[in-house]
Amino acid sequence: MSYHWEPQWIRKRVVVDGMELEVCQDLSTGLYLCPLCIDIDRVCPSESKPSTVVPDKATYFFSLQDLVRHLHAHRESRWREAAVSVEEEAEEEFVSGEEE
Ligand SMILES: [Zn+2]
Repeated sequence: MSYHWEPQWIRKRVVVDGMELEVCQDLSTGLYLCPLCIDIDRVCPSESKPSTVVPDKATYFFSLQDLVRHLHAHRESRWREAAVSVEEEAEEEFVSGEEE
């Protein structure tokens, strides 16, 4: 068993849920990196030449679906910050979409 892992990051353009994203993907494990948690220009500057930079604070994903869920969490935390100032309008109490 070895802990040695030399990543080979390449820049990849993917489309998930209609969103076009640029992410880093490791060629040997297939892992994706969250492009908001790291500096993708540092970790995977190129689409053809793999980089072996080991990012210090990265979030890794095995599937694009998981990555997208994580990206939504990024957005939500930003919305929550923005929502603080418009709190008064947040009291909508209608129930919708109760279909069986
Ligand atoms: Zn992230």
